[in-house]
Amino acid sequence: MKAAPFDYVCASNLEHALEVLDANAYDAKLIAGGMSLVPMMAMRLARPALLVDINRLDELKNIRIEADKVIMGAATRQRNVEFDTELHKSLPLVRDGLKWVGHVQTRNRGTIGGSLAHADPSAEMPLAARILDATMRLRSKAGGERTVAASEFFQGPMFTAVGETECLVEIEWPVWQGPGVVTAFEEVAMRNGDFAMASAACQLQIDSSGICQRAAFGLGGVDGTPLAFPDLAQQMIGRKIDENLAKEIAHAAAKRAEPGSDMHADGEFRRHLATVLLSRILASAGQGQRAALAA
Ligand SMILES: Cc1cc2nc3c(=O)[nH]c(=O)nc-3n(C[C@H](O)[C@H](O)[C@H](O)COP(=O)(O)OP(=O)(O)OC[C@H]3O[C@@H](n4cnc5c(N)ncnc54)[C@H](O)[C@@H]3O)c2cc1C
Repeated sequence: MKAAPFDYVCASNLEHALEVLDANAYDAKLIAGGMSLVPMMAMRLARPALLVDINRLDELKNIRIEADKVIMGAATRQRNVEFDTELHKSLPLVRDGLKWVGHVQTRNRGTIGGSLAHADPSAEMPLAARILDATMRLRSKAGGERTVAASEFFQGPMFTAVGETECLVEIEWPVWQGPGVVTAFEEVAMRNGDFAMASAACQLQIDSSGICQRAAFGLGGVDGTPLAFPDLAQQMIGRKIDENLAKEIAHAAAKRAEPGSDMHADGEFRRHLATVLLSRILASAGQGQRAALAA
């Protein structure tokens, strides 16, 4: 199918983009990489009357790496993050997740902010943002700037806190400092590059005696939004994470999910996948190793 007719504005700077959005609320949509929006338009699941192109806005592509956080422009291409070795040291979970996002071609165009704003419940960047508790910086012409925590940002399948006239401008990712940070990101999809039927990811900090000092983990594809479980993660602190503990935590987490069914998998199968994936990655990361293989 082909997209319904639409107008197009190539924004010359952020203020220009915000002005156009402000003047065309409910009719306009930002376009970044177009990797999600264009297929949605082609299937007529989205019919914006006006596209506001933010691809040329270098001010949305800056990355600042600080000791305790990384500030990333929303229009940063996924492939640039994937290949940035300094970023990888600060945000290993983000790079682990990016390897599962679509294909090289989609990551060449797709942006980190586009993936977060699109908010597919199976998408990897939203899951990483939820687990790490990233903060989104939104801006509009009328409302100025506001920040929204990932826990408030993702509100339902493809539904976020971004208002009709707002642009996601930056993402602030917390950086875990100190030694012993281990990450793992695993998922199961029908084919390589497809959206996950279920995914699990974790970031742990394990000391030299094998004791867990800090923990965060989550599940994707098993609810309307990516899920994180800070209270269950807290139960791992001060303990060695063996297979039994990993299984116990994974079961408790997956039990809270409300997975949907579709032509690929029913809800209970997704829950089963989530449990297996999560117990595997927690057990291997808990030993200071990255998870070996997905289910
Ligand atoms: C074949 C294929 C496979 C894919 N597989 C995966 C996968 O496995 N995992 C995955 O996560 N994704 C996958 N994707 C989706 C895609 O690659 C991107 O990861 C992402 O979802 C879209 O980023 P984008 O920059 O292209 O956003 P766009 O498509 O340009 O925009 C997506 C949505 O976000 C909004 N938006 C964009 N930027 C902003 C902003 N700065 N502020 C506010 N709103 C904004 C747009 O208005 C639109 O509603 C796949 C896509 C294809 C075509």
